[in-house]
Amino acid sequence: MNPVKNIIPIILLIVSAFYGYNNFYKIPEAILTGTVFLPIMLAILALGFTFHFNRSQVFFYVLLIIVANIFHGLHLALTNLSYGLLSGFLPLLLLGITLLPERGIISVRAIPAYILLLLALLFSLFVTTTTPTWGLQIVLTDWLPVHYFDWTQQSQSVVMISVFVFIYMLILYFLKPTSQMATGLGVLVMLIAQLHFGSKEDSLNVFSVIALIMCIYSVIHESWRMAYLDELTELPTRRALREKFQTLGGLYTVAMLDVDHFKKFNDTYGHDTGDAVLRMIATKMNKVSGGGTSYRYGGEEFTIVFNGKDSESSIKHLEALREKIATTPFVINRASRRKNDRRAKTAKNKSVRVTVSIGVADSSENTSAHGVSAWDLLKKADKALYKAKQNGRNCVCD
Ligand code: GH3
Ligand code: MG
Ligand code: MG
Repeated sequence: MNPVKNIIPIILLIVSAFYGYNNFYKIPEAILTGTVFLPIMLAILALGFTFHFNRSQVFFYVLLIIVANIFHGLHLALTNLSYGLLSGFLPLLLLGITLLPERGIISVRAIPAYILLLLALLFSLFVTTTTPTWGLQIVLTDWLPVHYFDWTQQSQSVVMISVFVFIYMLILYFLKPTSQMATGLGVLVMLIAQLHFGSKEDSLNVFSVIALIMCIYSVIHESWRMAYLDELTELPTRRALREKFQTLGGLYTVAMLDVDHFKKFNDTYGHDTGDAVLRMIATKMNKVSGGGTSYRYGGEEFTIVFNGKDSESSIKHLEALREKIATTPFVINRASRRKNDRRAKTAKNKSVRVTVSIGVADSSENTSAHGVSAWDLLKKADKALYKAKQNGRNCVCD
């Protein structure tokens, strides 16, 4: 999870939203009228996508964007009070939805989210119809000197709520920098901007369109991640390796890496500790020198591809990796305490070492004939791996 990488697309979308908002009226009339249904079409698309992939959090984000637009577009929030309630509640609801765990869209566990939305709606209806003085006070009181808030038509309470939710979401993002959290942050900024600029057609169009694009992007990105990144180790999967193989030509090296006596390790320390070891090995593999790319081939087997290198120069880097894994102590207690594995508890505070065997093959011998496919090389690397196991494991063979 890379905090910078995941937020970049969202930042670009936010920048494009403000650029679009400032230049909205420069767009030729004919194009503007042609895109009049764009927000509606995107909303349907976003609802369809999130529903199909059962992504409840983003589904509820889309609902909030739709609510903001219905109230805005139909001028349902007419008084200062009702507009203040809408502007205050939307960020708070977004935060609430983000804090609730992923819960499905049509399921019993989704009920808290629906109740949250319903309560906010009923409360707003109650306050706007009865206009109690405490309601007016909370939403419309000026707590601070008025001139600090000259730049916005929003009430001070709304500004404070918006800032609070924004900082809260920012902290959540840095604690868990997923692309979904980045989307939540982006949608929040779009909602705040839309409510701040009011219900004019430019703000309605631009900010809701970009917010909906963020939601659609999030679903597509998550599907890509599920297909191409392994859940346990976060290394690229075999599907990603297959695509890499299609692009390979000329000189390259393929290495197969297999954990030694891993079945016994699992039997001794438990499957969860085994998983933690695989994650530790993947972290080391991700940092392999020499420009190698690591993949989880399946189970406790991994593949490393060195593009543009022969096996002789790749072996240096693989030796360094093998050595690094073999000399890194793995503390069983740490993993077992976290995972609460019953079997692992018997081996408290124990520090163990895990070794790997590596088989290597390169494309140098085969370039003259019909060329060899990367899959053939993988088989060769697998044979070399078998040799490494025969040679007593914890070694690299070609
Ligand atoms: P060798 O040194 O010959 O490779 O011995 P080995 O025990 O590692 O070989 P084998 O292929 O028989 O065992 C592989 C084991 O890896 C079996 C399985 O329990 C374990 N394994 C495969 N995938 C996972 C996984 O995702 N998590 C855990 N914890 N274990 C896994
Ligand atoms: Mg194996
Ligand atoms: Mg093994």
